[in-house]
Amino acid sequence: MSTLWLVATPIGNLADLPPRAVDVLSHVGLICCEDTRRTGLLLQHAGIRANRLAVCNDHTEMSRIDDVLGLLGEGRDVAIVSDAGTPGISDPGERIVKAAIEAGYNVSAVPGPSAAIMALTISGLDGARFTFEGFIPRKGAERTARLAEIASEHRTIIIYEAPHRARRTLTDLREVCGDDRMVAVTRELTKLHEEVARGSLADIDIGSPRGEYVFVLEGATAEDPVADDETVRRALRDQFAAGSSTRDAAALVAKQLVRPKRDVYQIAIALGKEPDE
Ligand code: SAM
Repeated sequence: MSTLWLVATPIGNLADLPPRAVDVLSHVGLICCEDTRRTGLLLQHAGIRANRLAVCNDHTEMSRIDDVLGLLGEGRDVAIVSDAGTPGISDPGERIVKAAIEAGYNVSAVPGPSAAIMALTISGLDGARFTFEGFIPRKGAERTARLAEIASEHRTIIIYEAPHRARRTLTDLREVCGDDRMVAVTRELTKLHEEVARGSLADIDIGSPRGEYVFVLEGATAEDPVADDETVRRALRDQFAAGSSTRDAAALVAKQLVRPKRDVYQIAIALGKEPDE
């Protein structure tokens, strides 16, 4: 039976293309990729003769499903690659995978590079239990809520970030997690200027941000301070701005910041919001 292949590609160093990836990319009937030029260069580097490429990104992934299922139906294999790393990990792929599974086709992978796993393994932090956050929402109530969840998470946390937002995110993490939380700031992994800075959130200085970042953050410990009232007020204001009722906002913020619901409800009322009927 035909197979949909998720093929991992290098995150910076072209020598990291797994040999089995070359086999698969050579024989499939279609390669879905984010950028045909970039994938074309990779294929050229691997000595793979021009194969059929189709753009599959956040906007086009849904419209590719019919093409992919059509080829699988004809008995041809199809591959999905992304610009770098493992498809489906903060990259397109997931929706086609679901469609192929639902239609009863094989789905398999050629495993290989992923910035998240590389950053975790070189971070020096606890790798036994970890959680992957990908990109944190950029602003508003969603960002406040996610930061609060991260602050109370006990497992090691992996976060992706773009260069121009790296400083802001580290500052926000320090605000919600405190000065002492350890972090590994990894940059340009597998590339010539690969760097890892390890230290507390207060001590880390990334200089002028360049390249792509993965932050690996130590999980919360039992001694970590619970969120203070001001942090609770900020989170509540965001929830009110997003249209939540007093009760809903208090319940959500209490859960996120691990504070008793009754305390948070009192703070919400003191903020001037009328109690719910
Ligand atoms: N699917 C990819 C993977 O498996 O790692 C991730 C794609 S996501 C769109 C891109 C983000 O991954 C970047 O913003 C950065 O956070 C991280 N990343 C990718 N390559 C990296 C590298 N060489 N060094 C550091 N971070 C990298």
